[in-house]
Amino acid sequence: MKTDGQVPGQAHGVIALTASACTSCMICVRECPSWCIELESHDVEVTDPGARRPRTVSFLDAFTIDFGLCMYCGICVDLCPFDALAWRPDFDYASRSAAGLVQGIGELESWQQGPGDGTAISDS
Ligand code: SF4
Ligand code: SF4
Repeated sequence: MKTDGQVPGQAHGVIALTASACTSCMICVRECPSWCIELESHDVEVTDPGARRPRTVSFLDAFTIDFGLCMYCGICVDLCPFDALAWRPDFDYASRSAAGLVQGIGELESWQQGPGDGTAISDS
């Protein structure tokens, strides 16, 4: 289908990550049928002013999606309880190597800003 560089806004283009919303719960990692999501995190104890006990906060160290394996099913986006994952209508991320299709936090977060070379068009 000819798109003239435009894709529908609801298209399964790329999966964007909001790292600050991710709690490292591992649901997406466990439920992905392609096993293409990898995540590393560490826990830190934080004591809030006035709190009786410190609470444990998980910090995301690494989050990657291998788009060479992803089958764009949307399970990870649908199941994330914190809306940390979302579809974005970007499609221009081809690579000459399999390793180039593995995207980390930087790229996944940059897609939150909107499409790159592809321009989203109205859903209507
Ligand atoms: S869209 Fe499906 S295959 Fe792709 S990362 Fe999410 S759960 Fe895995
Ligand atoms: S399901 Fe959402 S909150 Fe949980 S690890 Fe995946 S992206 Fe992070």
